[in-house]
Amino acid sequence: MRTRRDFFRAALLAAGTASVTEAAHAASGKIPSVDRMGILIDTTGCVGCRSCETACRAAHDLSGEPVHAAPDTSVAQVRRRPGNGSLTVINQYPGRKEPGHPTHVKVQCMHCDYPACESACIVGAIAKKENGPVVWDSDKCIGCRYCMVACPFQIPSFEYEEALKPDIVKCDFCFERITAGGLPACVEICPMEVLTYGRRSALIEMAREKIRHYPERYEHHVYGEFEAGGTSFLYLANAGFKELEFPDLGRDPMPGTSESIQHGIFAYFVPPVSLYALLGGLMWIAKRSKETEKEMAE
Ligand code: SF4
Ligand code: SF4
Ligand code: SF4
Repeated sequence: MRTRRDFFRAALLAAGTASVTEAAHAASGKIPSVDRMGILIDTTGCVGCRSCETACRAAHDLSGEPVHAAPDTSVAQVRRRPGNGSLTVINQYPGRKEPGHPTHVKVQCMHCDYPACESACIVGAIAKKENGPVVWDSDKCIGCRYCMVACPFQIPSFEYEEALKPDIVKCDFCFERITAGGLPACVEICPMEVLTYGRRSALIEMAREKIRHYPERYEHHVYGEFEAGGTSFLYLANAGFKELEFPDLGRDPMPGTSESIQHGIFAYFVPPVSLYALLGGLMWIAKRSKETEKEMAE
């Protein structure tokens, strides 16, 4: 186990590396706003009630009965991924620091500071907003699915059942709500105050403070502070993040990697890419003709 001294040494090292990383980002001319918002998820307080899933579905008007309706908490024992039915899911893991108390992990888009999905998108349908959210524009999307391949957290999903206008689906950080001054739906509903919404820099301070005050309770790591260049969603946990199936990512932003995927690996798979492009083109034409029909009818 790491001692407090190890922890503070690591924190100092991290601070040094952070400034180097910021300098590299500054050199690239793309730095997220210092005022960007985030959500701190303290998994140690989560009871797995899944109210956040329900509130998220309601806020996004996701139609149809959810396959696993809350409050069935046993569902959390099955590993699920966010998808068409739910933009966020709760998964359960054995708790390491408090045996007998499972750890519940809320999974959704991390709203990366340097989103690989945005970098991979060839038509600019995904954008990191100044206040933090990474949002997706249905009107621009051609359905190529590069974003799905590029995302290091395997988040975007695709509405395969929609024949003509399938959408990419992912958490949007309740962009409209927070831009209008409201709270994200999941934060608003959580009965255990597991989710804290605020300025990302303040959330990191809060997370470090919690670790300082309760070193036995927390893993000495704020996941998302540096991973893949940093994310707007941050996590505290009472078990190793690898054990909780968080991807082990370096500190460098992923866009370079995704661009390599797009321009390198895909180059060897010309037929699928051409097919995606063709399908994307057909979808776009279908969408435009539907819109034109609608405009003419008005
Ligand atoms: S988690 Fe994936 S989908 Fe979300 S912003 Fe990051 S790269 Fe994009
Ligand atoms: S921020 Fe909004 S969209 Fe994202 S998980 Fe929470 S409720 Fe759902
Ligand atoms: S609403 Fe809060 S306590 Fe309930 S599952 Fe979601 S994050 Fe956990």
